[in-house]
Amino acid sequence: MHEHTTQHSYEMSTEELLQGHLQLYHHFFSYIKSMALKCAAELGIPAAIHRRGGAATLRDIVADVALRQAKVPHLRRLMRVLTVSGIFAMKQQQPASSGEAVYTLTPASRLLVAGAGGGHDMSPMLRFLVHPTALTPFFSLHAWFRVDDEEEEEEPVAGGSGGGGAAMSLFEMAHGFPRWEMTGRDAAYGAVLNEAMAADSRFVMEVVFREGGGDVFRGIGSLVDVGGGHGAAAAAVAAAFPHVKCSVLDLPQVVRKAPPDAGDVRFVAGDMFEYVPPADAVLLKYVLHCFGDDDCVKILRRCKEAIPTRDAGGKVIIINMVIGSGSQRDIFKETQALFDLYMMYIDGVEREEKEWENIFSKAGFSAYKIMPILGFLSIIEVYP
Ligand code: SAH
Repeated sequence: MHEHTTQHSYEMSTEELLQGHLQLYHHFFSYIKSMALKCAAELGIPAAIHRRGGAATLRDIVADVALRQAKVPHLRRLMRVLTVSGIFAMKQQQPASSGEAVYTLTPASRLLVAGAGGGHDMSPMLRFLVHPTALTPFFSLHAWFRVDDEEEEEEPVAGGSGGGGAAMSLFEMAHGFPRWEMTGRDAAYGAVLNEAMAADSRFVMEVVFREGGGDVFRGIGSLVDVGGGHGAAAAAVAAAFPHVKCSVLDLPQVVRKAPPDAGDVRFVAGDMFEYVPPADAVLLKYVLHCFGDDDCVKILRRCKEAIPTRDAGGKVIIINMVIGSGSQRDIFKETQALFDLYMMYIDGVEREEKEWENIFSKAGFSAYKIMPILGFLSIIEVYP
């Protein structure tokens, strides 16, 4: 029997020790999951499984993605990680005596093959989120927390598109220049970013229209997608509502590379901190979470100048997350928390409702409505 002593209350049972040990290792290796997923996508494994009718053995996959047969045992290890974590599923081949495992796609891996994911391929987003440009700054996160920038913080907040406040961003600390310069300096990275956003926008807009969120675009005659990248969201609106005149405002280096086939969309090169072209409604998808509160207020004020009154149908439509809105299941909460910390590398932030409310009222808006119809994301309508 164990004697209870307060003195040794920090002592852990073997069960607790092993639980802690397990949880730590599970955490230590979290990045292996994203790296394994990136590897599978780069090799074209989801597409290879899809080509075999949605079920493939290791040997099928190896042949299909043109690897040497000697790599089969290694590929098995990669597939084991992605199967235990639910990216692929596994079933025994019939007859079971052949002993060869057959890998199948799950809803997650289907979204990495356009033909299997209802036309959606999120692998450009995967490539962007685990790009070395994003990953390297995180090695300095602890150093960034310790940077003493109190003096700069007391200065008035610097305006313009470069800064997210006076303090240096984690991005700038790692790369030596401000975040939005990257797409101008490194064309390959710019392409990765633009393709990722376009893939995500096509996906999100389809869900918006499916879930009745299309109502937010009903009744408007024109829309400007501010920070609209290569126009995938605007093109989706133009296709669903052909009478809505859609345009995109983005930085010159982004507009310059916009595809000529972006549907019925007009591109405007400019700076949203300076000027937003007039329209009945402004769309801001994945834009405000890239900026701190002061910059968001500046952007929203420009948007307010661009739209008519509420009675005349003026509104701002935001697609972003509202932390704490929608499902409170662990996977939602954890994904939202991870996304928020990810945004920290460019001085971005994901917001709770009261934080959104604060920037809306500071920017002079009178009311808002949150629609949590997009999984871990929401649509927010904001009225002048
Ligand atoms: N709305 C798009 C892209 C979001 S990424 C989508 O969801 O698919 C953020 C976008 O804001 C990028 O395309 C970036 O170039 C643009 N951006 C950043 N600063 C800007 C500025 N000052 N003026 C206009 N666009 C800007």
